Amino acid sequence: RPAEPQGPQKVPGIDRIIAVASGKGGVGKSTVSANLACALAQQGVRVGLLDADVYGPSQPRMLGVSGRPSSPDGKTILPMRNHGVTMMSLGLMTNDDQAVVWRGPMLMGALQQMLTQVQWGALDVLLVDLPPGTGDVQMTLAQKAQVDGAVIVSTPQDIALLDARKGIDMFQQLNVPILGMIENMSTHICSNCGHEEHVFGHGGVAAEAEKLNVPLLAEVPLDLQIRLASDGGAPIVVSAPDGPQARAFHDVAKAL
Ligand code: ADP
Repeated sequence: RPAEPQGPQKVPGIDRIIAVASGKGGVGKSTVSANLACALAQQGVRVGLLDADVYGPSQPRMLGVSGRPSSPDGKTILPMRNHGVTMMSLGLMTNDDQAVVWRGPMLMGALQQMLTQVQWGALDVLLVDLPPGTGDVQMTLAQKAQVDGAVIVSTPQDIALLDARKGIDMFQQLNVPILGMIENMSTHICSNCGHEEHVFGHGGVAAEAEKLNVPLLAEVPLDLQIRLASDGGAPIVVSAPDGPQARAFHDVAKAL
């Protein structure tokens, strides 16, 4: 009997896997993932988005997808598709108000199922929206699948940066290259008077990226339109494709 394959494996049909991670929750990792996926799709890249944020899967809402994925053969799962993005989320397998209280082994099983039993088709890039922190899902992903790189999202706030550093450290230990950092909620411009304010500080991520010798990929402002677009199921890259926010996400998508 052939031995079980050891170490990270390539997922058939998927050219590159890129993890989108953050140290802390609520810093905008899912918002960034959704916009990057849509920007890649608009650039003609065959892109998938795996929403592995088991504690708060928000991609169905952000990408405007609902309903249950079907499984015609009872073995594999057909992913959903919107805005040119092929997507699958644990949020589509549970009820909206059902809290996910899973233990490590179950999480690992669910992640593996999403990687290998979903009919992703041929993809140039699969983005994985990870839960915040450095837990079982991150470890399992990097141990089971060949992850080609990680993008780290953080706000400039000290506490978020501290946690982001731990995330970077984890990926480095798992031999996953850090593609760069994104400073989200970088600055806020009042839509009423135009005054610019640094709600969570400013420049912290740039300094951190320089210290760690990784690229700063973008600084994304705290912007009402970004929030409204995501809540409405069409990320800002889709709803305002010619605006400055969309341009920032397109630049990052090109750099990946
Ligand atoms: P995470 O995935 O890190 O938990 P989310 O992407 O879910 O974070 O973002 C948390 C909340 O902040 C959401 O309500 C989202 O719409 C909002 N948000 C994220 N980034 C921005 C931004 N740049 N401008 C305005 N609101 C944002």
